Amino acid sequence: SIPISSLIEKYFDDIKSITDKDFNIFDFKKKVGYRNVLPIMCHVLLKSLGLYDSKIISLKKLDSFLRSVSDGYKESTLYHNSLHGADVTQSLCIYFLNSNAEEILETTVLDLLGIIVSAMGHDLGHPGYNNNFHVNAGTDLALTYNDASCLENYHTSFLFRILKKEESNILEKLSTQNYNNIRKRMISQILATDMANHGEVVSLIKTKIKTSEEEGLNRFDLLSGNEKTKFDEQQILLNYMMHAADLGHNCKKFNISIQWVELLCEEFWMQGDMEKKKGIPVSFLCDRDKIDVPSSQVGFLRGFVVTTFDCLIRMFPTLNYTMDNAKNNIKEWKNLQEKHRVRGWTPEKNNEKEK
Ligand code: AMP
Ligand code: ZN
Repeated sequence: SIPISSLIEKYFDDIKSITDKDFNIFDFKKKVGYRNVLPIMCHVLLKSLGLYDSKIISLKKLDSFLRSVSDGYKESTLYHNSLHGADVTQSLCIYFLNSNAEEILETTVLDLLGIIVSAMGHDLGHPGYNNNFHVNAGTDLALTYNDASCLENYHTSFLFRILKKEESNILEKLSTQNYNNIRKRMISQILATDMANHGEVVSLIKTKIKTSEEEGLNRFDLLSGNEKTKFDEQQILLNYMMHAADLGHNCKKFNISIQWVELLCEEFWMQGDMEKKKGIPVSFLCDRDKIDVPSSQVGFLRGFVVTTFDCLIRMFPTLNYTMDNAKNNIKEWKNLQEKHRVRGWTPEKNNEKEK
C-alpha cells in the first residue's frame, strides 16, 4: 500500500487540524477513507509529540505497525473500530500538548511513547460485544480470560502480538529493561480502560489531588518524591489520563460527540438483539425498545464524564475546555430530552421523521 508519508503529502491541508481540540474525525474519514484514518493520524500525532525519531522507534517499521493496528480493528464494529482508536489517541495527545502534564507527571520519552501506543491499540479486535455479554454468553474470550476484563486482556495481547512481529516491531531498539518497563506500563494502561475500574481509577486520583490541595501547594505535587514508589505513582496518573481520553469524545463539541453516541447506541443495541436471541440478560443501555437516549446521556455525562474530567481540570486548568464542552453537551441532551419523550428515540430516526 501507499507509504503513509505520501498520504501525508497528499492530504497536507487536512492534516494540519489533527492536533486541534475541535478536529472533526468524521469529516477527515470522508476525505482520506476509513483505512487511512488511524495510520495518518497516529503518524502525525507521534511527530507532534517529538516521538518520530529514529533514536526512539524504528521508523522503517512504523508503516507496517500502523497498518497492522488499523486493520486489527473490525470495521464492522460500529463504535469500537479504528476510528475510535485514532480518536482516543488524538484526545490523549492534545491533553499532553495543551497542558504541563509531562512536567507534572515527570514522564520520560518512553512513558509518553508507551501511553500513545497503548491508546492506538487499546480496543484492538473489539467484536462489538462488551464484557458483560462475553461473561453471560460464556464465549471463548470469557473462557480464555476467566471473566476478568476479557476484552481489555485481549486488546493488550493483540497489540503485543503485532509488536512481536519482525516487520512491525517499532520497539525493537529499546534495551531489555526499557522494553520491560514500557510493557508493564502499557498492560496496566489498557487494563485500566475497563469501565469496571472507573471508580477505582478516579478515586485514586481524587485522593492525590486532595492531599495536594490540603498541603496548600502552589501547584499540584502529585508525586511524593519517593524514588522507590515513583514508577507506581506515575502509573496511577497515566492510567487515569488514558481513561479520560477513552471518554474524550464526550468532551468534544456536540456535533462531533453526538455522532459517537449514535454509533455506540447502535453497537449496544445490536448486542441487545443478540442477547434477546440467546435468551441471556439484556445488558445496560442495550435494549433498543426501552432506552431513552437523551436521558441516558444526561445520566452518563453527569455520572461518569463530569466526575472524571473534574479531576483532569483541577490538575491541568488549561484543559478546562473539556469540561465546558461536557457541560454544554448535557445542556444539548437536556433540550432533546424535553422535546422527545419518546421511547426508542434515536437521533437518526428522529432526523428521518423530520425530513
Ligand atoms: P472502551 O470500551 O474502552 O471504549 O471504554 C469506554 C466505555 O465507556 C465504552 O465502552 C462505553 O461503555 C462507555 N461510554 C463512553 N461514552 C459513552 C456514552 N456517551 N454513553 C454511554 N456509554 C459511554
Ligand atoms: Zn475505548
